[in-house]
Amino acid sequence: MLSFTILFLGSFSLATAKLTPLAPKPDWQELDRYQQTLTRKEFSNMLNGIYAPGGAAKGLIDVTSREAKIRTSEGRAPYILKFAATSGSARPVPKYWRRRSEIKPVTSRALSGVKIAIDPGHIGGKWAKIEERWFQIGKSKPVVEGDMTLQVAKLLIPRLEAMGAEVHLTRSHAEPITGVRPSQLRKTATASLREKGEKTTSQSIKSESERLFYRASEIRKRAEMVNGKIKPDLVLCLHFNAEGWGDPANPALVEKNHLHFLLTGAWSRKELEYEDQRFEMLIKLLNRTFPEEKAATQALAKSMVSATKLPPFIYRGPTAVRVGNSDYIWARNLLANRLFECPVVYVEPYVMNSRSVFKRIQAGDYQGRKSIGGTSQPSIYREYADSVAAGLAKYYAGR
Ligand SMILES: [Zn+2]
Repeated sequence: MLSFTILFLGSFSLATAKLTPLAPKPDWQELDRYQQTLTRKEFSNMLNGIYAPGGAAKGLIDVTSREAKIRTSEGRAPYILKFAATSGSARPVPKYWRRRSEIKPVTSRALSGVKIAIDPGHIGGKWAKIEERWFQIGKSKPVVEGDMTLQVAKLLIPRLEAMGAEVHLTRSHAEPITGVRPSQLRKTATASLREKGEKTTSQSIKSESERLFYRASEIRKRAEMVNGKIKPDLVLCLHFNAEGWGDPANPALVEKNHLHFLLTGAWSRKELEYEDQRFEMLIKLLNRTFPEEKAATQALAKSMVSATKLPPFIYRGPTAVRVGNSDYIWARNLLANRLFECPVVYVEPYVMNSRSVFKRIQAGDYQGRKSIGGTSQPSIYREYADSVAAGLAKYYAGR
């Protein structure tokens, strides 16, 4: 009986790759283009420092003096990535995006020649409630993160274009770009709940299929557009933050308000056990986006801290690691940043359900300044857009 069980489990794992829901099975040969593009030291530093801190990749990625042995699918041979002997002999890194130093300005404008994709976080509109990015107090204007990020994106376009950038949006309406709808995801949702060891009730299947729709299918579609069509030098992911608000029809307002930025990194052991996540982490690492993400984010952090005067949000626990010595910049593994192969700056300012921010959201968008809660303030949307634009200008002007 015992041997039968083992045999059964063995063949089960052979037949099913461990993949996150809706993730395609990786083609490991795609890593061939990164052979001998970096040294062992560079690989290990990035793996241990940013992407898989705390030995998270141990046993999944084994580093020897000349190569990394990477676990692929269950029952398949590992993928061998050979290191360059020295950085001088390393082969060039193939990538669609350009580092700041590789973008030649054609005019004297700060963003001349720079291609930027803006990803207004979430979907908004009639989808905001199922995204759980919606709340309302009495008869107030509803607070809808997906609509607010789109508003900031639309203010950013003319600001960035005036400085010479080519700007693209991943969405320009409060509608999803994926054609898949929650009702088509019920089978995947059931399998996903079973894999997590959760109950499959009609309610849990409904909410899991909604989650897979807005958090997986929609984000995958945006990444396809960015990596396959836009191919920008940088993606700007725009968000507003929140503290737990409880019931969206009777939300809690808080005093806390803060700001932080995310870079891609800090995979956990559990996440790296998924074949697709291991593969996506390696693409980010081997693409060498990190120095570019860090430098661009530092410039943005400087200008946004100065404009908003907000304190940093500090992560406790292992989901995020501090980047450099800034309390404002953290590495974290999200589908919404890891799938973009180019550098990503992920912006998380303002707590939407903080008393002061709620008042500013109710005041809407306006030019100049207005007295809100007794202090003269610009529109929250313009403060956001102006400080992002100033940070990018500062960064790319340093070419
Ligand atoms: Zn968000």
